[in-house]
Amino acid sequence: MVETESAGPNAMSNPDYIALDSLTSTRMVEFQGDELKDKFETARKNHMGYPYNLAFNAAMTSRFGGYLINNLGDPYVGSHYGTEVCDLEIEVIKWAMNIWGVQQQDDYWGSVVASGTEGNLWAVYLGREALVDPVVICSEDAHYSLPKAARILGIDCITCASNAKGEICLKDFRKIVRTHSHRGLVVTLTCGTTIRGAHDNIAGCLEILDDEAIPQSQRYVHVDGALNALVVPFLDGVNRDILPTFDMEIDSISASGHKMIGTPMPCGILVARRAHADRVASAISYIRSNDTTLMGSRNGHATLAIWERFTTLGVDGFRRDAAACLERAKCFAAQLRSHGFPVLHNQFSLTLVFPKPSDDVVKKYQLACDGDLAHAIVMPNVGNDLIDRFLQDYLAGCAETPTRPAVMELQA
Ligand SMILES: *Cc1c(COP(=O)(O)O)cnc(C)c1O
Repeated sequence: MVETESAGPNAMSNPDYIALDSLTSTRMVEFQGDELKDKFETARKNHMGYPYNLAFNAAMTSRFGGYLINNLGDPYVGSHYGTEVCDLEIEVIKWAMNIWGVQQQDDYWGSVVASGTEGNLWAVYLGREALVDPVVICSEDAHYSLPKAARILGIDCITCASNAKGEICLKDFRKIVRTHSHRGLVVTLTCGTTIRGAHDNIAGCLEILDDEAIPQSQRYVHVDGALNALVVPFLDGVNRDILPTFDMEIDSISASGHKMIGTPMPCGILVARRAHADRVASAISYIRSNDTTLMGSRNGHATLAIWERFTTLGVDGFRRDAAACLERAKCFAAQLRSHGFPVLHNQFSLTLVFPKPSDDVVKKYQLACDGDLAHAIVMPNVGNDLIDRFLQDYLAGCAETPTRPAVMELQA
């Protein structure tokens, strides 16, 4: 038997031991004073490294901060617990269904989830349950939560190559489909990849599945649209091939709530064909609901926050924000290029990839980095003043002649 160390008197003789009450009192000063708030204000003012829309105020949502709001169980069924907002959750889901081209809402199911990651995990689970001998296919630019979901669910994950822009390589996709044509295929495609902001050619992949004679019963297609499933539907002139829409033979779509929508807590939305949710549902009398969600207790504050954003901003607000962000992203890229820096900026994307600046600049603007590269995402709160400040720091921090690591391909 392994002896576990107790947190009793033994722990106190440990030189690293910090008495909980002294820790609490220092933290409490920070918490009650302006220190933590100031830190958050500064961080928010300079942030451009993650795809978070920080331009929200959540005024209505914060009124309910003192309640435990728990959308326990299936959103369509509810539970015995009274402090819940399942009705608003259904409205949120319907809103997303409209944006994602659902014609018959009764044929679809959805829920507000804990994050884009939960959406992906649950989608892969729905796919696994729908198919015989399933295997997950995702591109090398797919979010790490997809291979992780496959690992957790005990399914093989085949990685498909991507091209210079970061899109799934259709040639390699066809090869993989052909090699695994006897198995159930859980195909995960991305609308706005994490690092390069690329859009997989959804229609192209579906055509290949048809071409290779993979029947509907042998495939499950999920679109991970964490960021751009709430960007590209609002832009004009977007190529239909990359649009996350249930007009096509897609089984589920997910997005994060704290990305383009803008909520004060991490959350997400998942919409799937109802048959998939029904397949995994089992009735649990204890909660008086159906067990169709990964989490039993689910964050009702997140539903309120998304609902507040959808209703206050409206489709017009999302359209305005998406168009303005795209415009600023284009100018930002042009400015970097005018100073001789290579930039990758995919069409209809808010993400810019460029050579990584000094550590100070990386830290101040909270940039996500990948080797020699960094990326910035032009969200609604990343205004021209922030971009100008960043450019000043970026140029000041760089040598006279910009170093050009293996980023010439960025011009692709
Ligand atoms: C951010 C992201 C995720 C994960 O979303 P979380 O809400 O952070 O869990 C999944 N896929 C893509 C493409 C992302 O960019």
